[in-house]
Amino acid sequence: MTTIDPTKADFSRGEALFKAPSQFVKGVVRVTDLPQDGRAEIAFAGRSNVGKSSLINALTGQKSLARVSVTPGRTRELNFFTLGRDGQLLLVDMPGYGYARASKAEVKGWTRLIRDYLKGRSELKRLFLLIDARHGLKESDREIMTLMDEAAVSYQGVLTKADKPKSAALAAVEANVAAELAKRLAAHPQLIVTSARNGTGMPELRAAIAALAPNAVVS
Ligand code: GDP
Repeated sequence: MTTIDPTKADFSRGEALFKAPSQFVKGVVRVTDLPQDGRAEIAFAGRSNVGKSSLINALTGQKSLARVSVTPGRTRELNFFTLGRDGQLLLVDMPGYGYARASKAEVKGWTRLIRDYLKGRSELKRLFLLIDARHGLKESDREIMTLMDEAAVSYQGVLTKADKPKSAALAAVEANVAAELAKRLAAHPQLIVTSARNGTGMPELRAAIAALAPNAVVS
């Protein structure tokens, strides 16, 4: 697939993009409630506990942004936030999946919402698939990857909690995940290695997002 690699300019645009305060727009439980104004979107998804909230808060520098909208019992929402000074780019925080204690009904509801969202969302420029650097890919990750390959949704792997494993273990997980993603139709070949705890990979991730939004007003 063709890829847009971040340029040097994207690194500074990325920093500027995330300097502007993000705002919560809405939580969506049905695809009929999705924003309809055509703004470009980038999404974050991953297994529950992968570190998604921490990553979104570290990226935006807003400590409790990702939790603000979490209403108990409504964890299957897609939460939309603005990015950039003009808010013309939306960040979509998707519900965590693979939670062992989720009921069948919850899993079914989640799967349906994700499927419906991913199938026909031309606004979605890329989904960042978060993968725990200690564990690598799991079956539930592969299921969503297959969904995205089928729906031709561009996605890119992001390793989280990279401060946790020792460097040899991290390198092994990185190599395994990269090799598996390389075989996938719609996956970006480059993995971004991050830690919300020490800031590793934040500039790279911000730059990748800025590269996807060439028209966003950043300063
Ligand atoms: P979510 O369920 O995917 O939103 O995950 P959270 O952001 O709530 O994080 C789950 C757990 O992982 C929490 O205990 C976090 O403190 C921890 N965590 C998240 N990011 C990091 C990281 O970069 N490094 C380390 N060591 N722990 C992290």
